[in-house]
Amino acid sequence: MSAYADTVSVCEPLAVLGRDVEVPLVGGEKVSYAALDYAASAPALQRVWDDVAAYAPYYGSVHRGAGYLSQLSTDLFEQSRATVAEFLDLRDGDQVVFTRATTDSLNLLASVLPAGTRVFVFETEHHASLLPWRREDVGVSYLRAPRSPQEAVAALDQALAQCPEGPKLVCVTGASNVTGEIWPVRELAATAHRHGARIVLDAAQLAPHHPVSVRDLDVDWVAFSGHKLYAPFGAGVLAGRSDWLDAAEPYLAGGGASRSVAREADGSVAVEWQQGPARHEAGSPNVIGAYAIASACKALTEAGFEGLVAREQYLIGRLRAGLAEIPQVKVLTLFGEEHPRVGVLSFVVQDWNSSHFSAALSAEYGIGVRDGLFCAHPLVRTLLGGEEAPPSECGAPEALPGERSLNAIRVSFGAGT
Ligand code: PLP
Repeated sequence: MSAYADTVSVCEPLAVLGRDVEVPLVGGEKVSYAALDYAASAPALQRVWDDVAAYAPYYGSVHRGAGYLSQLSTDLFEQSRATVAEFLDLRDGDQVVFTRATTDSLNLLASVLPAGTRVFVFETEHHASLLPWRREDVGVSYLRAPRSPQEAVAALDQALAQCPEGPKLVCVTGASNVTGEIWPVRELAATAHRHGARIVLDAAQLAPHHPVSVRDLDVDWVAFSGHKLYAPFGAGVLAGRSDWLDAAEPYLAGGGASRSVAREADGSVAVEWQQGPARHEAGSPNVIGAYAIASACKALTEAGFEGLVAREQYLIGRLRAGLAEIPQVKVLTLFGEEHPRVGVLSFVVQDWNSSHFSAALSAEYGIGVRDGLFCAHPLVRTLLGGEEAPPSECGAPEALPGERSLNAIRVSFGAGT
């Protein structure tokens, strides 16, 4: 089969997926386009755009103004927090902090760790959950890529057992942004707690596809991004236990985070910081972003995850069956092809540079996917079978015929596909 014919046959299973959008070209002509990059940013639901548009004429400053619009916006902002708390099934005493996105949420959590904390993180994580912990007074243990959920739990168990007393935090993804595979979060949380460690769930990829109950999974914190949960860019969430958040210095210093600021006799300035979410939300908050996240949470809850999961599993099944018929395609997997996954799947095509292949999908078929190392360099390199892949996502060298690929192609979809 020629290389071009390979491309055509790979496109067939992809072409059945995707939310067709009309994309305007220069000159006004419109083309139909299948957007299959939900794992990067999912299109916002129409319901979310409608809710935001209905609120837009009324928005005003939050927690600051005495006027009607300001009071209304403050109410809606706080109601959005309550909606997110309900969506995540939080425990009494947990709090919801609005952030910019998952990366910001995990950096916020990293900033409040007690000195001397040891963080345990699998090297397979997205960089947003792999990197924020590199603080001078915090130790990090990077756990090697497990090849099964059981191996993941055993590796964590062993690492925690060898760790001396002191505060410990485990950071784990709910679903991989590369393979889409679902991680054994409940088991990892139980293991963490057995050793006196806390656990934060990176739900950036899980929350758009599955209900996330903090109470049921028994995780201490959860982080996710609005723009992957069918809301627009610019807002995210860190939710969970209050004690470390309330005990630490604010993530950002400024108005809103400070309850009282007074000039001392010696000329210095004494600050009394807020307790609760306001402590880490200094500055004017992104009220539209928070409102949009709450709208998406409500839309997902009302629609029910059951139908979404069933539709995604059907599409994943079709995609896998189509790709399985093409011998040149290799699907990337850590836990095995049969392991449950969300609507995210990465693959390579023998003798093809993944960037060129993805460009061809876009230019020739109107199918938008992602190529590269997906901000999870150690994981993708492991899955591609080599440690020495290129250092950057851009300009990956072309794979020559017979050589292994140096980067991969990712297809992802979700609600509305
Ligand atoms: N965690 C995972 C698993 C992700 O897939 C991503 C983004 O792709 C992030 C964290 C970072 O999310 P954001 O870019 O919204 O901060």
